[in-house]
Amino acid sequence: MTANHSKVLIIGSGPAGYTAAIYAARAALAPMVIEGMQPGGQLTITTDVENWPGDASVMGPDLMMRMAEHATNVGVLRVSDMIVEVDLSRRPFLAVGDSGTHYTGDTMVIATGASARWLGLPSETAYRGAGVSACATCDGFFYKGSVVAVVGGGNTAVEEALYLTNFAEKVYLVHRRDTLRADRTNQARLAANPKIEPIWNAEVAEVLGNGGVVTGIAIRNTRSGEMSNRDVAGLFVAIGHDPATALFKGQIHLDDEGYIRIASGSTGTSVAGVFAAGDVQDKVFRQAITSAGMGCMAALEAERYIADLNARTTASSVTVEGNSLA
Ligand code: NDP
Repeated sequence: MTANHSKVLIIGSGPAGYTAAIYAARAALAPMVIEGMQPGGQLTITTDVENWPGDASVMGPDLMMRMAEHATNVGVLRVSDMIVEVDLSRRPFLAVGDSGTHYTGDTMVIATGASARWLGLPSETAYRGAGVSACATCDGFFYKGSVVAVVGGGNTAVEEALYLTNFAEKVYLVHRRDTLRADRTNQARLAANPKIEPIWNAEVAEVLGNGGVVTGIAIRNTRSGEMSNRDVAGLFVAIGHDPATALFKGQIHLDDEGYIRIASGSTGTSVAGVFAAGDVQDKVFRQAITSAGMGCMAALEAERYIADLNARTTASSVTVEGNSLA
Protein backbone atom coordinates (compact mmCIF):
# COMPACT_ATOMS: atom_id res chain seq x y z
CA MET A 1 0.00 0.00 0.00
CA THR A 2 1.49 3.34 -1.03
CA ALA A 3 1.69 6.49 1.09
CA ASN A 4 -1.07 7.99 -1.08
CA HIS A 5 -3.61 5.35 -0.22
CA SER A 6 -6.33 5.98 2.33
CA LYS A 7 -9.42 4.16 3.47
CA VAL A 8 -11.47 7.28 2.86
CA LEU A 9 -10.32 9.54 0.06
CA ILE A 10 -12.17 12.85 0.17
CA ILE A 11 -12.15 15.20 -2.80
CA GLY A 12 -13.06 18.76 -1.91
CA SER A 13 -12.62 20.96 1.13
CA GLY A 14 -15.87 22.82 1.77
CA PRO A 15 -18.09 22.12 4.78
CA ALA A 16 -19.02 18.71 3.30
CA GLY A 17 -15.42 17.60 2.72
CA TYR A 18 -14.08 18.75 6.08
CA THR A 19 -17.01 17.34 8.04
CA ALA A 20 -16.63 13.97 6.29
CA ALA A 21 -12.91 14.12 7.10
CA ILE A 22 -13.45 14.96 10.78
CA TYR A 23 -15.95 12.12 11.23
CA ALA A 24 -13.79 9.64 9.33
CA ALA A 25 -10.70 10.61 11.35
CA ARG A 26 -12.59 10.16 14.60
CA ALA A 27 -13.61 6.70 13.37
CA ALA A 28 -9.88 5.92 13.03
CA LEU A 29 -10.07 5.70 9.23
CA ALA A 30 -7.13 8.09 8.62
CA PRO A 31 -8.82 10.00 5.80
CA MET A 32 -7.07 12.12 3.22
CA VAL A 33 -8.63 15.33 1.89
CA ILE A 34 -7.53 16.66 -1.48
CA GLU A 35 -8.31 20.33 -1.02
CA GLY A 36 -8.50 21.56 -4.63
CA MET A 37 -7.88 24.99 -6.07
CA GLN A 38 -9.94 26.91 -3.55
CA PRO A 39 -9.36 25.35 -0.10
CA GLY A 40 -12.45 25.98 2.00
CA GLY A 41 -14.71 26.20 -1.03
CA GLN A 42 -17.44 28.72 -1.69
CA LEU A 43 -17.64 29.99 1.89
CA THR A 44 -14.19 31.50 1.48
CA ILE A 45 -15.76 34.00 -0.92
CA THR A 46 -18.77 34.90 1.20
CA THR A 47 -19.09 37.49 3.91
CA ASP A 48 -21.03 37.09 7.13
CA VAL A 49 -22.62 33.74 7.81
CA GLU A 50 -25.44 34.33 10.24
CA ASN A 51 -27.07 30.93 10.27
CA TRP A 52 -24.27 28.65 11.43
CA PRO A 53 -25.59 27.33 14.77
CA GLY A 54 -23.56 28.57 17.69
CA ASP A 55 -22.16 31.55 15.80
CA ALA A 56 -24.54 34.50 15.56
CA SER A 57 -22.20 35.94 12.96
CA VAL A 58 -19.03 34.49 11.53
CA MET A 59 -17.04 35.36 8.43
CA GLY A 60 -17.08 32.57 5.84
CA PRO A 61 -13.27 32.40 5.49
CA ASP A 62 -12.87 32.24 9.31
CA LEU A 63 -15.39 29.43 9.57
CA MET A 64 -13.58 27.43 6.89
CA MET A 65 -10.19 28.04 8.47
CA ARG A 66 -11.55 26.71 11.76
CA MET A 67 -12.93 23.61 10.02
CA ALA A 68 -9.55 23.00 8.34
CA GLU A 69 -7.73 23.37 11.67
CA HIS A 70 -10.23 21.06 13.33
CA ALA A 71 -9.59 18.48 10.61
CA THR A 72 -5.82 18.75 11.09
CA ASN A 73 -6.18 18.47 14.86
CA VAL A 74 -8.06 15.18 14.63
CA GLY A 75 -5.45 13.70 12.29
CA VAL A 76 -6.84 14.35 8.80
CA LEU A 77 -4.16 14.40 6.12
CA ARG A 78 -4.83 17.56 4.09
CA VAL A 79 -3.27 17.61 0.64
CA SER A 80 -2.97 20.65 -1.58
CA ASP A 81 -3.65 19.28 -5.05
CA MET A 82 -6.31 19.51 -7.73
CA ILE A 83 -7.81 16.24 -8.98
CA VAL A 84 -7.85 16.16 -12.77
CA GLU A 85 -8.83 12.55 -13.43
CA VAL A 86 -10.60 9.74 -11.60
CA ASP A 87 -11.15 6.04 -12.26
CA LEU A 88 -14.11 4.68 -10.34
CA SER A 89 -14.16 1.37 -12.24
CA ARG A 90 -11.16 -0.05 -10.39
CA ARG A 91 -10.57 -0.89 -6.74
CA PRO A 92 -9.21 0.90 -4.87
CA PHE A 93 -10.64 4.00 -6.53
CA LEU A 94 -8.07 6.20 -8.24
CA ALA A 95 -7.78 9.98 -8.34
CA VAL A 96 -4.94 11.69 -10.19
CA GLY A 97 -3.77 15.13 -9.12
CA ASP A 98 -2.65 18.07 -11.19
CA SER A 99 0.75 17.39 -9.62
CA GLY A 100 0.78 13.95 -11.30
CA THR A 101 0.36 12.22 -7.96
CA HIS A 102 -1.91 9.16 -7.83
CA TYR A 103 -4.21 8.88 -4.83
CA THR A 104 -6.20 5.74 -4.08
CA GLY A 105 -9.06 5.10 -1.69
CA ASP A 106 -11.04 2.08 -0.51
CA THR A 107 -13.94 4.52 -0.49
CA MET A 108 -14.30 7.95 -1.99
CA VAL A 109 -16.29 10.96 -0.81
CA ILE A 110 -16.97 13.45 -3.57
CA ALA A 111 -17.42 16.92 -2.10
CA THR A 112 -16.28 19.05 -5.00
CA GLY A 113 -19.12 21.56 -4.60
CA ALA A 114 -20.28 23.95 -7.24
CA SER A 115 -18.85 27.05 -8.90
CA ALA A 116 -20.14 30.46 -9.89
CA ARG A 117 -22.11 30.78 -13.11
CA TRP A 118 -21.23 33.53 -15.58
CA LEU A 119 -23.44 35.40 -18.01
CA GLY A 120 -21.46 34.11 -20.97
CA LEU A 121 -20.73 37.44 -22.66
CA PRO A 122 -17.34 37.78 -24.37
CA SER A 123 -17.04 41.27 -22.85
CA GLU A 124 -17.63 39.75 -19.41
CA THR A 125 -14.75 37.33 -19.95
CA ALA A 126 -12.54 40.09 -21.34
CA TYR A 127 -12.99 42.24 -18.21
CA ARG A 128 -12.88 39.46 -15.61
CA GLY A 129 -10.46 40.64 -12.99
CA ALA A 130 -10.58 44.16 -14.46
CA GLY A 131 -13.97 45.14 -13.09
CA VAL A 132 -15.96 41.92 -13.53
CA SER A 133 -16.06 39.67 -10.49
CA ALA A 134 -18.10 36.89 -8.88
CA CYS A 135 -16.89 37.72 -5.40
CA ALA A 136 -17.81 40.93 -3.60
CA THR A 137 -15.89 39.88 -0.51
CA CYS A 138 -12.72 39.49 -2.51
CA ASP A 139 -13.04 42.59 -4.66
CA GLY A 140 -15.50 44.98 -3.01
CA PHE A 141 -12.72 46.89 -1.28
CA PHE A 142 -11.47 48.15 -4.66
CA TYR A 143 -14.70 50.06 -5.30
CA LYS A 144 -14.55 52.66 -2.53
CA GLY A 145 -16.70 55.60 -3.55
CA SER A 146 -17.58 54.03 -6.93
CA VAL A 147 -20.80 52.98 -8.62
CA VAL A 148 -21.11 49.23 -9.17
CA ALA A 149 -23.75 46.75 -10.35
CA VAL A 150 -24.73 43.27 -9.20
CA VAL A 151 -26.61 40.85 -11.48
CA GLY A 152 -29.06 38.32 -10.02
CA GLY A 153 -32.08 38.12 -7.77
CA GLY A 154 -31.14 35.39 -5.28
CA ASN A 155 -29.73 35.59 -1.76
CA THR A 156 -26.20 35.79 -3.10
CA ALA A 157 -26.95 38.78 -5.32
CA VAL A 158 -28.77 40.66 -2.56
CA GLU A 159 -26.09 39.92 0.03
CA GLU A 160 -23.37 40.99 -2.39
CA ALA A 161 -25.25 44.21 -3.12
CA LEU A 162 -25.64 44.90 0.61
CA TYR A 163 -22.00 44.15 1.28
CA LEU A 164 -20.88 46.40 -1.56
CA THR A 165 -22.70 49.36 0.00
CA ASN A 166 -19.92 49.30 2.63
CA PHE A 167 -17.60 50.60 -0.08
CA ALA A 168 -19.51 51.83 -3.11
CA GLU A 169 -21.41 55.06 -3.33
CA LYS A 170 -24.21 53.38 -5.25
CA VAL A 171 -25.11 49.79 -6.17
CA TYR A 172 -27.45 48.78 -8.98
CA LEU A 173 -29.12 45.40 -8.61
CA VAL A 174 -29.94 44.19 -12.10
CA HIS A 175 -32.54 41.42 -12.09
CA ARG A 176 -34.24 39.79 -15.07
CA ARG A 177 -37.63 39.66 -13.35
CA ASP A 178 -39.51 41.97 -10.97
CA THR A 179 -39.61 39.49 -8.09
CA LEU A 180 -36.59 38.51 -6.05
CA ARG A 181 -35.74 34.90 -5.26
CA ALA A 182 -33.90 36.08 -2.12
CA ASP A 183 -35.53 35.42 1.27
CA ARG A 184 -37.66 37.99 3.09
CA THR A 185 -34.94 39.10 5.48
CA ASN A 186 -32.64 39.94 2.62
CA GLN A 187 -35.47 41.59 0.67
CA ALA A 188 -36.24 43.80 3.67
CA ARG A 189 -32.57 44.74 4.07
CA LEU A 190 -32.36 45.57 0.40
CA ALA A 191 -35.47 47.75 0.49
CA ALA A 192 -34.13 49.60 3.54
CA ASN A 193 -30.79 50.41 1.96
CA PRO A 194 -30.85 53.76 0.17
CA LYS A 195 -27.59 53.03 -1.66
CA ILE A 196 -29.13 50.18 -3.67
CA GLU A 197 -31.20 50.86 -6.75
CA PRO A 198 -32.87 47.76 -8.21
CA ILE A 199 -33.29 47.66 -11.97
CA TRP A 200 -36.16 45.26 -12.61
CA ASN A 201 -36.85 43.22 -15.75
CA ALA A 202 -33.38 43.87 -17.02
CA GLU A 203 -30.43 41.87 -18.26
CA VAL A 204 -26.85 42.87 -18.86
CA ALA A 205 -26.37 42.81 -22.63
CA GLU A 206 -22.78 44.01 -22.66
CA VAL A 207 -19.97 44.96 -20.35
CA LEU A 208 -18.53 48.27 -21.48
CA GLY A 209 -14.93 49.27 -20.96
CA ASN A 210 -12.06 51.39 -22.14
CA GLY A 211 -9.89 48.43 -23.08
CA GLY A 212 -8.35 48.35 -19.62
CA VAL A 213 -11.13 48.45 -17.07
CA VAL A 214 -14.92 48.36 -16.89
CA THR A 215 -16.63 51.70 -17.37
CA GLY A 216 -20.27 50.67 -17.68
CA ILE A 217 -22.92 48.15 -18.63
CA ALA A 218 -25.46 48.06 -21.42
CA ILE A 219 -28.83 46.87 -20.15
CA ARG A 220 -31.73 45.40 -22.08
CA ASN A 221 -35.24 45.60 -20.68
CA THR A 222 -36.57 42.02 -20.82
CA ARG A 223 -40.13 43.21 -21.55
CA SER A 224 -39.71 46.09 -23.96
CA GLY A 225 -36.29 45.21 -25.38
CA GLU A 226 -35.28 48.82 -24.75
CA MET A 227 -31.55 49.38 -24.28
CA SER A 228 -29.88 51.75 -21.84
CA ASN A 229 -26.42 52.23 -20.33
CA ARG A 230 -25.24 52.73 -16.75
CA ASP A 231 -21.81 54.00 -15.79
CA VAL A 232 -20.29 51.52 -13.35
CA ALA A 233 -16.73 50.70 -12.34
CA GLY A 234 -17.52 47.12 -11.35
CA LEU A 235 -19.93 44.33 -12.25
CA PHE A 236 -20.56 41.53 -9.78
CA VAL A 237 -22.18 38.43 -11.29
CA ALA A 238 -24.28 36.47 -8.77
CA ILE A 239 -26.54 34.25 -10.86
CA GLY A 240 -26.08 30.85 -9.27
CA HIS A 241 -23.74 27.92 -9.55
CA ASP A 242 -22.84 24.80 -11.51
CA PRO A 243 -21.86 21.54 -9.83
CA ALA A 244 -18.21 20.53 -10.22
CA THR A 245 -18.86 17.12 -11.74
CA ALA A 246 -17.04 17.20 -15.10
CA LEU A 247 -14.48 14.78 -13.67
CA PHE A 248 -17.08 12.14 -12.96
CA LYS A 249 -19.11 12.30 -16.17
CA GLY A 250 -19.62 8.85 -17.67
CA GLN A 251 -18.42 7.13 -14.50
CA ILE A 252 -21.24 7.92 -12.11
CA HIS A 253 -24.91 8.78 -12.59
CA LEU A 254 -25.56 12.53 -12.91
CA ASP A 255 -28.92 14.26 -13.32
CA ASP A 256 -29.88 16.51 -16.22
CA GLU A 257 -28.25 19.53 -14.59
CA GLY A 258 -25.02 17.65 -13.86
CA TYR A 259 -25.57 17.06 -10.13
CA ILE A 260 -24.54 13.64 -8.76
CA ARG A 261 -27.55 11.39 -8.22
CA ILE A 262 -27.75 9.81 -4.82
CA ALA A 263 -29.91 7.14 -3.25
CA SER A 264 -32.83 8.51 -1.23
CA GLY A 265 -31.90 9.18 2.40
CA SER A 266 -28.26 8.38 1.71
CA THR A 267 -25.13 9.85 0.16
CA GLY A 268 -24.53 6.65 -1.82
CA THR A 269 -24.00 7.11 -5.55
CA SER A 270 -24.40 4.72 -8.48
CA VAL A 271 -20.93 3.34 -7.67
CA ALA A 272 -20.76 1.27 -4.48
CA GLY A 273 -18.20 2.77 -2.12
CA VAL A 274 -18.41 6.24 -3.64
CA PHE A 275 -20.39 8.81 -1.69
CA ALA A 276 -21.31 12.39 -2.58
CA ALA A 277 -21.96 15.24 -0.17
CA GLY A 278 -22.78 18.93 -0.36
CA ASP A 279 -23.52 21.18 -3.33
CA VAL A 280 -22.19 18.63 -5.81
CA GLN A 281 -25.36 16.59 -5.23
CA ASP A 282 -27.71 19.15 -3.65
CA LYS A 283 -29.35 21.86 -5.68
CA VAL A 284 -32.19 22.45 -3.25
CA PHE A 285 -30.76 23.41 0.13
CA ARG A 286 -27.15 24.42 -0.70
CA GLN A 287 -26.34 25.58 2.79
CA ALA A 288 -23.13 25.14 4.74
CA ILE A 289 -25.03 23.33 7.47
CA THR A 290 -26.77 20.89 5.10
CA SER A 291 -23.46 20.27 3.32
CA ALA A 292 -21.80 19.54 6.64
CA GLY A 293 -24.67 17.19 7.53
CA MET A 294 -24.20 15.33 4.25
CA GLY A 295 -20.45 15.15 4.88
CA CYS A 296 -21.21 13.49 8.20
CA MET A 297 -23.56 11.02 6.50
CA ALA A 298 -20.96 10.22 3.84
CA ALA A 299 -18.30 9.45 6.46
CA LEU A 300 -20.66 7.22 8.44
CA GLU A 301 -21.70 5.41 5.27
CA ALA A 302 -18.07 5.01 4.19
CA GLU A 303 -17.29 3.57 7.62
CA ARG A 304 -20.11 1.04 7.26
CA TYR A 305 -19.00 0.15 3.74
CA ILE A 306 -15.44 -0.51 4.94
CA ALA A 307 -16.70 -2.57 7.87
CA ASP A 308 -18.80 -4.66 5.44
CA LEU A 309 -15.80 -5.10 3.14
CA ASN A 310 -13.67 -6.24 6.06
CA ALA A 311 -16.37 -8.63 7.22
CA ARG A 312 -16.63 -10.10 3.71
CA THR A 313 -12.82 -10.42 3.45
CA THR A 314 -12.65 -12.18 6.82
CA ALA A 315 -15.53 -14.47 5.86
CA SER A 316 -13.92 -15.37 2.54
CA SER A 317 -10.54 -16.08 4.18
CA VAL A 318 -12.31 -18.40 6.67
CA THR A 319 -13.91 -20.17 3.69
CA VAL A 320 -10.56 -20.49 1.94
CA GLU A 321 -9.05 -21.95 5.09
CA GLY A 322 -12.03 -24.28 5.36
CA ASN A 323 -11.65 -25.30 1.75
CA SER A 324 -7.95 -25.92 2.10
CA LEU A 325 -8.56 -28.00 5.24
CA ALA A 326 -11.08 -30.06 3.29
P1 NDP B 1 -30.01 31.31 -6.92
O1 NDP B 1 -30.10 30.17 -7.88
O2 NDP B 1 -30.85 31.30 -5.71
O3 NDP B 1 -30.33 32.67 -7.69
C1 NDP B 1 -29.74 32.95 -8.93
C2 NDP B 1 -30.32 34.26 -9.42
O4 NDP B 1 -29.68 34.63 -10.63
C3 NDP B 1 -31.81 34.17 -9.70
O5 NDP B 1 -32.46 35.34 -9.28
C4 NDP B 1 -31.87 34.04 -11.23
O6 NDP B 1 -32.99 34.65 -11.79
C5 NDP B 1 -30.65 34.80 -11.66
N1 NDP B 1 -30.08 34.26 -12.89
C6 NDP B 1 -29.76 32.98 -13.20
N2 NDP B 1 -29.22 32.88 -14.43
C7 NDP B 1 -29.21 34.15 -14.93
C8 NDP B 1 -28.78 34.71 -16.14
N3 NDP B 1 -28.22 33.96 -17.10
N4 NDP B 1 -28.92 36.03 -16.32
C9 NDP B 1 -29.47 36.80 -15.35
N5 NDP B 1 -29.88 36.34 -14.16
C10 NDP B 1 -29.77 35.03 -13.96
O7 NDP B 1 -28.45 31.41 -6.57
P2 NDP B 1 -27.75 32.08 -5.32
O8 NDP B 1 -26.31 31.94 -5.62
O9 NDP B 1 -28.28 33.40 -5.02
O10 NDP B 1 -28.12 31.15 -4.10
C11 NDP B 1 -27.85 29.73 -4.15
C12 NDP B 1 -28.44 29.08 -2.91
O11 NDP B 1 -27.73 29.49 -1.75
C13 NDP B 1 -29.89 29.46 -2.67
O12 NDP B 1 -30.56 28.35 -2.16
C14 NDP B 1 -29.80 30.57 -1.65
O13 NDP B 1 -30.96 30.71 -0.87
C15 NDP B 1 -28.61 30.10 -0.82
N6 NDP B 1 -27.96 31.22 -0.16
C16 NDP B 1 -28.30 31.47 1.10
C17 NDP B 1 -27.73 32.49 1.78
C18 NDP B 1 -28.15 32.73 3.18
O14 NDP B 1 -29.00 32.00 3.68
N7 NDP B 1 -27.60 33.69 3.87
C19 NDP B 1 -26.71 33.35 1.15
C20 NDP B 1 -26.44 33.03 -0.22
C21 NDP B 1 -27.07 31.99 -0.85
P3 NDP B 1 -34.47 34.05 -11.58
O15 NDP B 1 -34.84 34.42 -10.19
O16 NDP B 1 -35.26 34.77 -12.63
O17 NDP B 1 -34.36 32.59 -11.82
